[in-house]
Amino acid sequence: MADYGKTHAEQSADCPLCGGRGVVLRGDEAVSCECMTQKKADQAFRQAGLPKAMRQCRFDNFRFDFYTGEHLTRARKAFQEARDFAGRVMIDPAAVGLMLTGDVGTGKTFLAACIANEIIAQSGRVLFLIVPDLLDQLRASFDGDSQTREREIMDQARSVPVLILDDLGAHNYTEWVSGRIYTILNYRLNEQLPTVVTTNLTLPDIEDCLGNRAVSRLVLLCRQFRLTAARDIRHLLHKERELGGESA
Ligand SMILES: [Zn+2]
Repeated sequence: MADYGKTHAEQSADCPLCGGRGVVLRGDEAVSCECMTQKKADQAFRQAGLPKAMRQCRFDNFRFDFYTGEHLTRARKAFQEARDFAGRVMIDPAAVGLMLTGDVGTGKTFLAACIANEIIAQSGRVLFLIVPDLLDQLRASFDGDSQTREREIMDQARSVPVLILDDLGAHNYTEWVSGRIYTILNYRLNEQLPTVVTTNLTLPDIEDCLGNRAVSRLVLLCRQFRLTAARDIRHLLHKERELGGESA
């Protein structure tokens, strides 16, 4: 049982169905209220660090229609590998990870979020870390005196059963920060823990940013797949939303 740290009444005080008891009567039987299901789901998403906007990223609603020609071929391949991986890690805790490369707006983060959502749906443990946020957190803990916080972040990133590092880009890596990232990758490689990385960098670019030690770990941790698109998918989505707004 998960420890919620709060009583049902505290959690559900605002629920009109159960009035905060967490259970409702169905006939003579007391059953868990639907607010509890929602709260468990919210808790799982929070633990996984998955941003709210990405909770709808599911393999079922991947938009193949955004890709044509060779882009579609690559998207199909990456999609299949991502979906296979999400299934495989539930059976094989040492499954080899994935690196999804490609320019911004090619669907890498969407696929990575699909993996996270699928693992959460299967009650598996996953941590979705957006690399720029991770760097901010690590820097904050370096500047301040919150070494406990840094240890917490590092412990989680190192040991979570499935780690997703989203947007490993050309950020400003200090030696200290790149050392932290190397430590995470090296630990996960040694412990054979599945890791997914999305990046708009090539391997030589990553080597420039993070050094060749990090690249050598990445290559062993992840099989690489590239996504490409004729146009930035985020712009296409934006346009769709605007058109949807006009016709509504
Ligand atoms: Zn309720």
